[in-house]
Amino acid sequence: MQRPRFAIYTRISRDRVGAGLGVERQQQDCQALIAQLGGHIVGSYSDNDISAYSGKHRPGYEALLQAIKDGLVDAVAVWHQDRLLRRTIDLENYIAVCQPLEVATHTVKAGRLDLTTPAGRAVAKTLAAWASYEVETSTDRVKAAKLQAAKAGKSSGGNRAYGWLQNGVDQHPDEAPVVCEIVKRFISGDSWNSIALDLNKRRIPTAKGKMWTAINVSNVAQLPRHYGVRSHNGQEYKAAWAPLLSQDTRDELLLVIKRGQTIHGRRTHARKHLLTGFVFCGICGNKMNIINAQQRDGSYSPAFSCRKKDHRGQEVGCGKVKRKKDPVEDLLIDCIMYRLDTPDLARMIANQGTDTAELKARMRDYDTQSLRLQEILSLYSTNEMTFDEYKTAKVAATARLEALGRELEQKSPRNSMGLIPADQSVREAWDYGDLHWRRQLVDVLVEKVLIYPKRPGDGKARYKQWIFNPERIEIAWKN
Ligand SMILES: [Zn+2]
Repeated sequence: MQRPRFAIYTRISRDRVGAGLGVERQQQDCQALIAQLGGHIVGSYSDNDISAYSGKHRPGYEALLQAIKDGLVDAVAVWHQDRLLRRTIDLENYIAVCQPLEVATHTVKAGRLDLTTPAGRAVAKTLAAWASYEVETSTDRVKAAKLQAAKAGKSSGGNRAYGWLQNGVDQHPDEAPVVCEIVKRFISGDSWNSIALDLNKRRIPTAKGKMWTAINVSNVAQLPRHYGVRSHNGQEYKAAWAPLLSQDTRDELLLVIKRGQTIHGRRTHARKHLLTGFVFCGICGNKMNIINAQQRDGSYSPAFSCRKKDHRGQEVGCGKVKRKKDPVEDLLIDCIMYRLDTPDLARMIANQGTDTAELKARMRDYDTQSLRLQEILSLYSTNEMTFDEYKTAKVAATARLEALGRELEQKSPRNSMGLIPADQSVREAWDYGDLHWRRQLVDVLVEKVLIYPKRPGDGKARYKQWIFNPERIEIAWKN
């Protein structure tokens, strides 16, 4: 009688059943079994998979099946059925391959696996079902342990989070301040993208030593762990470690993110600043960006900047001009007020203590008329009126307002008269208007704003509270 040709199949896995059972040991036990059965070994197949249950591809197992199909094998030796077949679907396949060729399967632990009779197959199926059960319950145990750790606020392990050491408890001395900077800058108006560009420029790498992207920056800023929160499956627990940033800061950050999303769909510079898109470099003509420039006191304040390279590294400008945003905006608003208002518009009364009914009625009329002026300005700003129509309407409205103002002046005590700046009504409209409205108004008036480089002596120039020389700014008007 010919000695049956045996194939050995071994598999190492990290599951509970296979714990501590190395491939070597399985191999030796199988060899002993084959010797006992009087067979000889024609092949050894092995897989080193730590997640057989997930159905991951097993090259050794596939090769074994192929060898059986090719008629090279009379019998298979395995340590235990669960080494060979972990899922019932594997078993169905295996039976389909072995049955027609009458290939027998022998296990070290449970003897012959008879797949040729219904009773033998039922035993095999039961074994497979129990193997699945083992894996599932061990998964449940792991899940339960993880949840318990989360509730206790313990770190989850895994990949190191930016800003933290591998233990997940101690702050990283270099990275923790960067996390704070990112959050602070976004709250003060910087975009994720500009923060990423700046970090890359400063050669500050991510936790994995790579370059930052806007998404990385955003993800890092929003990590619950910075704020003393341990999150697990969407639930949040109080972390056992000391927070890097306060809960208030987190609320503020989330609010700023939400605001950016609800108003504009996505947060962009164009909608955050009055003059974005209108300001150009006086040297090279490049459209200037708004960046957050760090001040001497460590705070950040926005500035217009001619960027040398865009985010792809393409050269776009000279990179030589930079100017603080606020004085430029201030100057432009003043110029707009001056342009839209007649200098002798209105003298108004700062009413102090006069309470006659008639005076109050006149005050109301005056207010109504002021609102009418604002309305005219709004119509103009939204292009529902031409500049000429605006001027005509405004002259009429202003005349009426002036008449009312004179009446008020006569009815009021001399000492309560105050000079209201000539641009009051436009100012008021401006103050009432939201950023969107203001940008519309700028858009109908201003072609562009050019910023020229500073010159010697500019450090002594003053404009209102600013150290700023308005002569370096040129406004090109549309009308
Ligand atoms: Zn430039």
